[in-house]
Amino acid sequence: MLSSSPAGFRRLLPLLRPHLRRLTWGALCMLAYVGCWPLLMHLAGQLIPAIGAGELNRVIEVIALAISVFLIQKVAQFGQDSLLAGPALRVSQDLRRNVFRQLQRVELGALEKLSSGDLTYRLTEDADRVSEVIYKTIQDTVPSALQLVAVFGYMTWLDWKLSVAIILIAPLVAVLISLFGAKVMAATERSQNKVSELAGLLAEAIEGLPLVRAFAAEPWLQDRFETKIDQHRQARYRTYRLVALQHPVIGFIEVIGILTVLGLGAARIQSGDLDGQGFSSYVAGLLMLIDPISHLTTNFNEFQQGQASLKRLRDIEREPKEATDPVEPLTLGRLRGDLDFQGVQFGYDPNEPVLRDLSLSIQAGQVIALVGPSGAGKSTLFSLLLRFNRAQQGSIALDGHDLSLLKARDVRRQVALVPQRTTVFSGTIFEAIRFGRQASDDDVIDAARLANADSFIRKLPEGYNTMLEERGSNVSGGQLQRIAIARAVLGNPALLLLDEATSALDAEAEAAVQLGLRRAMEGRTVLVIAHRLATVQEANRIVVLEHGQIVDSGTHDELMQRGGRYRDLCERQFIRDLQGSETSNAE
Ligand code: ADP
Repeated sequence: MLSSSPAGFRRLLPLLRPHLRRLTWGALCMLAYVGCWPLLMHLAGQLIPAIGAGELNRVIEVIALAISVFLIQKVAQFGQDSLLAGPALRVSQDLRRNVFRQLQRVELGALEKLSSGDLTYRLTEDADRVSEVIYKTIQDTVPSALQLVAVFGYMTWLDWKLSVAIILIAPLVAVLISLFGAKVMAATERSQNKVSELAGLLAEAIEGLPLVRAFAAEPWLQDRFETKIDQHRQARYRTYRLVALQHPVIGFIEVIGILTVLGLGAARIQSGDLDGQGFSSYVAGLLMLIDPISHLTTNFNEFQQGQASLKRLRDIEREPKEATDPVEPLTLGRLRGDLDFQGVQFGYDPNEPVLRDLSLSIQAGQVIALVGPSGAGKSTLFSLLLRFNRAQQGSIALDGHDLSLLKARDVRRQVALVPQRTTVFSGTIFEAIRFGRQASDDDVIDAARLANADSFIRKLPEGYNTMLEERGSNVSGGQLQRIAIARAVLGNPALLLLDEATSALDAEAEAAVQLGLRRAMEGRTVLVIAHRLATVQEANRIVVLEHGQIVDSGTHDELMQRGGRYRDLCERQFIRDLQGSETSNAE
C-alpha cells in the first residue's frame, strides 16, 4: 500500500549514527546559516525607511552590515553543505550494500522469478533516487524548515495578529500540497514500475538478440518494446502533468497570500499597531519565506518519489531468504564422501513433491550416473546437496553427518558443482578459478593441471592473467568447461556434482574436456547428470529417476539386459552416441 509517511526513511536514521561528529559540525554551520535570516530581516527593517527618508550615511552603514551578514551566511552554508554531503552519501552507500547483501541471500527459487533487468534498475536508479532524497533532506529540507521557523518566528514577534492571519491561510496550502504529494507518489510508483519492466525487457532482449535474429522476430520484439515504451511514456506524462498543475496552483495561492498580508499590514499601520520599520522587516520576512516554502514543496515531491524507490528496494529484502544455518553447526574436516539419502521428500511447493521417498546409499569414490526424462528431479537432487533447498522429509547425510546440521558454506566447500553451462565473471583466469576463495597461485595451477586446462592457459598471451570477457566469450566452449572443472576441484571437494553439457563439442575439444573430467573425478564421489553414453557405461551405478522416484538402478549392462524403461530411455537419450558406437563397432 502506498503511504506518504516517512517511516521508510526513518528506518534509515540508525545508519547516520557513525557520522555524528560530522553531522554535529554540519548542524552548527546550519544554525549559523539559519540565524542570519532574522538578522537580515532586522537590517531590511532599518534599510527601507532609511532609503525612504534619504539618509544616505545610514543606508551605507546598513548595507555594509548586510554584506557582512551575507558573507558569514554564505560561508556557513558552504560548511553545512560540504560537511553534510559525506554522511548523506555514506547512508545511501550503506543502504545499497545492505540491499545487495540481502539479494545474495534470496532463495534461488525466488530469485529466478525476479527479472535481472528489474533488479539492476532497482539497485542503480532507485538507489540513486533514494540517495538524492537523503542528500536533499539533510542538506536542503532541514535548513529550509529551520529557516521557515526562524523567519516566521521573528515575524510573529513583530506582529502576532498578522501571523495568525497567515496561519489561517497556511492549512489550505498544506492540504493542497499533501493532496498533490500523495497523487504524485502514486503516479511515480506506477511510472517507476514501467521503467523496471522496460529494463527487464531490455535485459531479455539483449540476451536473446541472436535468437531473435535467427527467427527473424525483430518486428515482434520491436512491437513489444514499443508497447512498453508507450506505457512508460503515458505513466511519466501523468506524473509530469500532475507536477505541472501543482506548481501554478500553489504559486497562485502564495501570491494571493502575500497580497492579502500586504493589505492587512497597511491596515495595521493605519491603526498604529505596527510602525514602518516593523512592517518593512515583516515584508522582508514574507519574501524570505518564499524560497524555503518552494524548496520544501519540491523536496516533498522528490521525497514521495524517493519513498516509492525505497519501497521497491526494500521489497528485495522481503523476498524469502535461504534457510538459516543451524545455531550450533557441526564442524567438518575433510570428508571421505559417503553419501546417504533416506526417505527424502521435497517439493518447491510442499504439497507437490518433486522428489518422493528417495533412498540411496553411495560409497565414497563411486561414480553414480543419474538418468531420467527432463523434469524427473535430477537438478533438484543437486540443489538439495548444495543446500539450496532442504528436504521436507527424510535425511541426507555426508559421511554420516546430517546435512541439515551443517553450515551451508561448509557443505558447499565439500560439494562442488560443474554446471551444464559455464558462467564466469569478467576477470583474470586466476580469479575465475579462485572464485573468491583463498588459494595460492600454485594451488590454482594444480587445479588447472588436474582439469587439463593448464596447457591451453599457458598458451594464452598473458597465461593465467589473461582477462576473461563477460561470459568467457574470448575462450572456446571446451576451454571454458575445463576452467569450470578447475574451479570445482580447487579446494579438493569430496563430492563432485556434474551436470554434463548437452551441446556437442568437436571430437578434439570433447576429448580434452573428458580427460580433465576423468582426472577431476578420481578419488571423489561423483554424481553426474548423464547425457553421454560413455558416461553411463563407465559409471559404477546408474540410477534411473522418474517423477522424483528411483525406478531402477544398476550398471549399464545390467539395466540394458533387464530392458524396459532404461533401455527405452537410453535409446532415446543417447541415440546419437549409440549410432556413433555402432558405426565404430562396424568399422
Ligand atoms: P530435471 O533436472 O530432472 O530435468 P528438475 O529437478 O529441474 O528436473 O525439475 C523437477 C521438477 O521440479 C519439474 O517439474 C520442475 O518444473 C520443477 N522445478 C524445478 N525447479 C523449480 C523451481 N525453482 N521452482 C518450482 N519448481 C521447480
